[in-house]
Amino acid sequence: MDKTSPLSPEIPSPAYICPFDQACSYLDAAGKELKLDQGLLEILSNPRKVVTVSMPVKRDNGEILVLAGHRVQHCDVLGPYKGGIRFHPAVTLREVSALAMLMTWKCALLGIPYGGAKGGIAINPKTYSTNELERISRRYISELIKDIGPSVDIPAPDMGTSAREMAWMMDTYSVNIGNAVPGVVTGKPLSIGGSLGREMATGRGVMIIVREALADKGKSLEGTRIAIQGFGNVGGAAAVLLHEAGAKIIAVSTGSGGVFAENGLDISEVKAYAKENNRKILGFPHAKPISNAELLTLPCDVLIPAALENQITEENVNQIQANLIVEAANGPVTLEANQALEARGVTVLPDILSNAGGVVVSYLEWVQGLSYLFWDEEKVNSEMESLMVKAYRKVIEQSQMRKISPRLAAYVLGVGRVAQALSDRGLYP
Ligand code: NAD
Repeated sequence: MDKTSPLSPEIPSPAYICPFDQACSYLDAAGKELKLDQGLLEILSNPRKVVTVSMPVKRDNGEILVLAGHRVQHCDVLGPYKGGIRFHPAVTLREVSALAMLMTWKCALLGIPYGGAKGGIAINPKTYSTNELERISRRYISELIKDIGPSVDIPAPDMGTSAREMAWMMDTYSVNIGNAVPGVVTGKPLSIGGSLGREMATGRGVMIIVREALADKGKSLEGTRIAIQGFGNVGGAAAVLLHEAGAKIIAVSTGSGGVFAENGLDISEVKAYAKENNRKILGFPHAKPISNAELLTLPCDVLIPAALENQITEENVNQIQANLIVEAANGPVTLEANQALEARGVTVLPDILSNAGGVVVSYLEWVQGLSYLFWDEEKVNSEMESLMVKAYRKVIEQSQMRKISPRLAAYVLGVGRVAQALSDRGLYP
């Protein structure tokens, strides 16, 4: 794909940070470190398939809405494509392409036999009724029916989608194929072949990475001061599990703002408050209100950005006080900010490692579905934990051996495995 051509109707502002260019920069750096052949690098810089469908959908008032639905399949050299579907107003084809590429490296890094993909629709799901969201989800999957399937491309939830959307998508695919095909999506409800442990998986993976990184510094979770941006699927689960493990969660936030407590928040109380207040936590009575910008620069031991991309940038990087940043969201630290943090000796554990718990349990869900044998939650969690710890250890080992940052080490491992497979398979024809 031409990195400079406009892939979507967005009009970049001067402050615009292109996620696809960022993803290609990390790939280039890994390629350089691995001394990759230029031709291989060129193949890996381009998504294999980019699909944008025009989706007419009827609103509840009868009005017809035409939405653009994207699916980008980056590379399937290791196995079927795998990646989430995002419903968020900021979705663009460039962002989806970047996230698809990240999924390729993430799956390879974790040693799971998938290639990377991503999908998305630029909508704010909060402004649609449940019936409208069902029609959007079903139309999206029916438009893409020839491009997905349990051995082709397996979608999963991402921002703005959940088990509910996966159930509609699985049903739409199955009705069109003529039989139930649970393996077409992961992150499904348990009633139709979902896996125990999937809901908390990404947050649990984040907790495991924080725990391992602290242990390497001779510390434990007990009493460690942690700030978390985002209190959704990932940030919320990470907060619960880290709190249970003894960490002090001093601040959490949602899109409308956050809360701070010097001596740590009672996360179960914050959760209950969010449940009662339409997922907002601003106003939680036992803490001080705090903005998202303030949360990022709090004095703390660990900072976990678990909301959106491009949150730690050149603008605020000098105010960041944490010594360990664990990227729970995709791409929350920009390239420039990452360089500045590395220069200051701050450890940044990259998204393709830290938030991989979700895709690992998606893989375990797929394996259980294919083998018609379902595991208890303990087994799911322990299989996931062993893959996460193994990947973390390999990243640290590479980083020390090559004297490179953990981020570059993670890319070297992921890109290296895909490049090796590509060169072993050879080019057709
Ligand atoms: P989510 O929609 O469940 O939660 C997102 C959270 O971020 C919410 O609390 C929301 O209020 C908050 N938020 C939104 N805009 C914000 C803003 N401007 N500032 C601060 N907070 C804001 O989404 P999620 O599934 O938790 O995903 C979060 C991130 O993690 C995304 O980058 C996603 O790609 C990544 N991720 C998710 C999974 C998964 O399994 N869900 C797996 C891997 C990576």
